[in-house]
Amino acid sequence: MSKNVILARMGEVTLKGLNRGKFEIQLKSNLKYRLRSYGKLAIYQSQSRIWIEAKDDENPVFKSEESAKEILHAVTQVFGIVSASLARKFEGGIEDIITNSVEYVRNYLNEHPDHKTFKVEGKRGDKSFPLKSPEICAEVGAAVLENFEQLSVNVNEPDFILYVEVRDYNYVYAGKVMGHRGLPVGTAGKGMLLLSGGIDSPVAGYMMASRGMQLDAVYFHSFPYTSEQAKEKVVDLARIVSGFSGKMNLYVVNFTQIQLDMYKNSPQDMLTITMRRVMLQIAEKLAEKSGCKCLITGESLGQVASQTLEAIAITNEVTDMPILRPLIGLDKEATCDISRRIGAFETSILPYEDCCTVFVAKHPKTHPKHVDIEEAEKNLDIEKMVSDGVAGVEIIEI
Ligand code: ATP
Ligand code: MG
Repeated sequence: MSKNVILARMGEVTLKGLNRGKFEIQLKSNLKYRLRSYGKLAIYQSQSRIWIEAKDDENPVFKSEESAKEILHAVTQVFGIVSASLARKFEGGIEDIITNSVEYVRNYLNEHPDHKTFKVEGKRGDKSFPLKSPEICAEVGAAVLENFEQLSVNVNEPDFILYVEVRDYNYVYAGKVMGHRGLPVGTAGKGMLLLSGGIDSPVAGYMMASRGMQLDAVYFHSFPYTSEQAKEKVVDLARIVSGFSGKMNLYVVNFTQIQLDMYKNSPQDMLTITMRRVMLQIAEKLAEKSGCKCLITGESLGQVASQTLEAIAITNEVTDMPILRPLIGLDKEATCDISRRIGAFETSILPYEDCCTVFVAKHPKTHPKHVDIEEAEKNLDIEKMVSDGVAGVEIIEI
């Protein structure tokens, strides 16, 4: 009797000192949550590895090769996991090891028909097993060669390595799917992501989540200047980010009246910065209410007028909360690469306008001074804008 199990490898977590245990517990709990729809699971750890298997041997999702691969993919989406492999676990002697190895390689070659060379690496953890590691390798290698004419052995640069481990049970596996590394979400507090419908902010959220941060998000919506579709797009992006960061609340702020007021009562060339300052103050209030300890934006230095050092300094003034800008030193192409890798890009480039493009100034000030902002806000009731924004918020559970 053999079963599919998943072997996941931990990364940075293993470098932790005294509080390593705390990180490991969080990681296992995140895996459990991510895999909650796949039945009752046993998730256990040995050294820097985590093993995942169904508690019930008859669990159909683990039995089928197809859905086991789906679970494998889900495991690699969890921060803290460096890579994962689908393994076969079984009991018995060398005969069983050979049968299972051949069976495993057959499935493996279906996925990797171009692989022509291999080697076997054996590990005998159970010293009472009658064959030593090199003998196990020799037996398994010979059986694989006999069963698959197209394969030959290459010990230096094989296309794949077939690992055989003999411990409490026997395990065979080959190949690995790379994970997203990072630290388990939930080990670095919670942050409020300013999430627009663009390319940058979902990536910014992903990056902070990769450092263990849990997220809530806020979106400033200016209906009907920004359409219902633009909001749906942000909800979709929030879902994509939450695939990595876990459960989140999306706060949708009704920003229309605030923007109209600004448009009417403050100078055009300072509009973006004035608006950004109000956004941050509303975001800060929502963050305080929901236990978030920082704000996160998708800004990158020099990308647009509102992202110069002077503009950033002036927007920072309105809040005492740390504002994290993980993309600050990335160029657009690097951000787009990450966006593609996390599956957000196609959604981000859908052509629905965001609020900044509707109320955008033709010649924004790129190097604003303090007097400029005083002038710009002189005829605005900022305090009321902020409290109205907070009061009119809609909360969507993602
Ligand atoms: P993005 O691709 O994330 O939209 P961007 O390059 O278009 O960013 P800006 O429009 O200047 O840059 O916005 C900078 C940051 O401000 C965004 O990354 C986001 O964090 C925040 N932001 C902008 N507009 C909104 C909005 N309508 N709702 C929430 N946050 C926003
Ligand atoms: Mg934008």
